[in-house]
Order: sequence, then structure tokens, then C-alpha cells
Amino acid sequence: MAIAPPSVLVVEDEPAQREVLAYNLQAEGFRVAQADNGEEALLLVAEETPDLIVLDWMLPNVSGIEVCRRLKSRAETRAVPIIMLSARSEEVDLVRGLETGADDYMIKPYSVVELMARVRSQLRRTRPSTIGATLEYLDITLDGETHRVHRDGHLLKLGPTEFRLLSTFMEKPGRVWSREQLLDRVWGRDIYVDTRTVDVHVGRLRKALCAHGGEDPLRTVRGAGYALG
Ligand code: CA
Repeated sequence: MAIAPPSVLVVEDEPAQREVLAYNLQAEGFRVAQADNGEEALLLVAEETPDLIVLDWMLPNVSGIEVCRRLKSRAETRAVPIIMLSARSEEVDLVRGLETGADDYMIKPYSVVELMARVRSQLRRTRPSTIGATLEYLDITLDGETHRVHRDGHLLKLGPTEFRLLSTFMEKPGRVWSREQLLDRVWGRDIYVDTRTVDVHVGRLRKALCAHGGEDPLRTVRGAGYALG
């Protein structure tokens, strides 16, 4: 099992445009969820936080701007990149869009190729291991393309689950992950796994990381979870 591909939520009320976006994102290998209005978008995000949102400005009921404002004002969803789509080109509106915290912006009609490039660019920043980037932490190097991990020049033997765990840790060194968050990120929501399984795999990851010497870089945070560094 490879690393779970990034999930992208497409919020667009025009069915033809929504389908073109979903089709192209799936072709890029992303998991895609779709919403045709702002309320549904907020519900979907509450169910499962996506890795990125492509958000149309003009939506029925709750506007794209309002969805963006709400998501960017909550700690749990603030870090999710949002690319806004707008038919408007007035400079004043652009500024307004960016003030609500949108990470990027495209004016309709936009080039799908350009939008895909921007999606990847946002994910390179927030989910680097999922798009084949190389991550480094101290003497550890993780190659997202070849799935090889080296420490101090030694190739480490990691199982697929340990690889996904390490990718998660290396994307955000210092961040404390709860067991539940690790389950979501590494195993996925749909699979039922006991939180003790997380401890087992963290143990295996530790062993693999220290197989050629070096200090244990993983930290157990009592009552909270695990962190790298
Ligand atoms: Ca629209």
C-alpha cells in the first residue's frame, strides 16, 4: 500500500466545471470529493479534512468567500490550502479574496493545466511526501519518489506502514501527533485499527531508525502521542 494520495475537495456549483476539475484531479492521482454548495462543503470538511480545497467564489447560499473565511478562522482547518476560483477580475475583489486567507487564486476562464500546477505547488508545501518530494530531517533522508529512507548514509529497511508513519512525521518535525491523528493519516479513516497498533508500528519505526546506531529521534509525549524531534 502506497502513501494515501492527497485528498482534494472541489466546491463548484456548475456541474460541467466541477466534473472537469474532478476528472483532472483524479487523473493526477488525487482522491477527490465534490460539493456543489458552500454548506455541503463545510459538512464534508467537518467529516474529513481534505489536503486541499478548490473553491468557487460564487456559490448558492453560503458563498465561497464565506466558506474560506470560516475554514481559515478555525485552528483545525486553517492550514488546509484553498485555491479560489472567480469569474471576477476586479482588483478590489482579488484583495478581498486574499484577505479571507485564500492561498491562491485563479480567474475564470482558467487553464486546467495551470490550476493542476498550482494544486501541486500548494501540496509541495503542505504534503511534500505525497507528491514525490525528498524530505530531510537531521541525518535522515526520505525519498518520496523511490520510497527509500537513508540515515547517515545507511539504507533503512522500513515496512510500508513505517514508511507512511515516517513521511507523516517528517512533513512536520516537532508536531505532536495523537494516535487518532496518526490513524487517520497513515491508515485512513475507512479502516478500523486499534490505537495500540500505532504504538506497535512506532516501535518498529524506532527500531529501524536506530538499526545502524544514532539516537532515537522519535519522542513519546505522555498523554498526547508522538513527535519527531
Ligand atoms: Ca459558481
